[in-house]
Amino acid sequence: MSETMLSFTIQGDNEGYVTFTCPYCNSDFKLQAGEYQNDEEPFSELFCPYCGLSKEKASFYSEDVIEKARELATNYAIEELNKAFGKMAKSINRKKGIIKMTYKPLKKVNVRELKEKDTQEVEFQCTICNHHTKVLYCAGASKIFCPYCGLDL
Ligand SMILES: [Zn+2]
Ligand SMILES: [Zn+2]
Repeated sequence: MSETMLSFTIQGDNEGYVTFTCPYCNSDFKLQAGEYQNDEEPFSELFCPYCGLSKEKASFYSEDVIEKARELATNYAIEELNKAFGKMAKSINRKKGIIKMTYKPLKKVNVRELKEKDTQEVEFQCTICNHHTKVLYCAGASKIFCPYCGLDL
């Protein structure tokens, strides 16, 4: 089978922020979609603003985003199957044989709507790389790191 790219856009909150989740401490933080997807400044790793640990950026996708990607992939597969079986049924039924094939197309799964909740966060701007981040600045967190360069803000 050939490779197919599935892409979708994530709608940010009213300031264009999208939620990410740290794979280490499971905390949520937000990044500006425009900065995250800036092709002129590609990056491969992100730092968790809470624990400061870094990992490839794909591991920071939130559960919702991963689920949505899975649903889209499922629907794509179903569509391809429906097409293939539809063709097969047609060609079998065309030959006036005794075999008749009836085929009921598979139903697609519902793809969730990704919407950001407007929660209470504090916005930070890194003094070195100028990127923005929004973090839940709760009492326990005394230090915040820049998700892009890992600087202690
Ligand atoms: Zn973390
Ligand atoms: Zn920075």
